[in-house]
Amino acid sequence: MAIANPVEVYAASSPQEAQLLKDLLSEAGINAEITEDVTPDGEWMGVSAAPYHSSRMWVDDEMAETAAEILREYEQQRDKKLEAREEAAVHLVEARCEECGQISTFSAALRGTVQECPKCGASMDVGPATDGDWWKADGDVVKL
Ligand SMILES: [Zn+2]
Repeated sequence: MAIANPVEVYAASSPQEAQLLKDLLSEAGINAEITEDVTPDGEWMGVSAAPYHSSRMWVDDEMAETAAEILREYEQQRDKKLEAREEAAVHLVEARCEECGQISTFSAALRGTVQECPKCGASMDVGPATDGDWWKADGDVVKL
């Protein structure tokens, strides 16, 4: 199905993303076309450059506004997912098992508690992630 008045609505970063978006638009009854922009591998000013790739999405200009709205929603959801992942990473703490030396990752909510080592099952303290020597300091206190 050819598009009468094609308008570019999106430049996807990969063919996979472009295909996903095309499906998304077709679910909404919008016919989208994808064109691939690929510059061949080559040398530029004596420097070899990686091929540049982008998948452009085209829809009929009558559908452009609706399509743009769907694509905006898609981007927002994608960004939310990325933020959630980054937040989860921030709220993790690493701790080392004194029995087997295994470094494990725990939720930061468990900081300051005693947990089971996932590797050997020994009890281990989950300490603050910021101070790398926290277990040595704790050990000194125990010895006294
Ligand atoms: Zn262990």
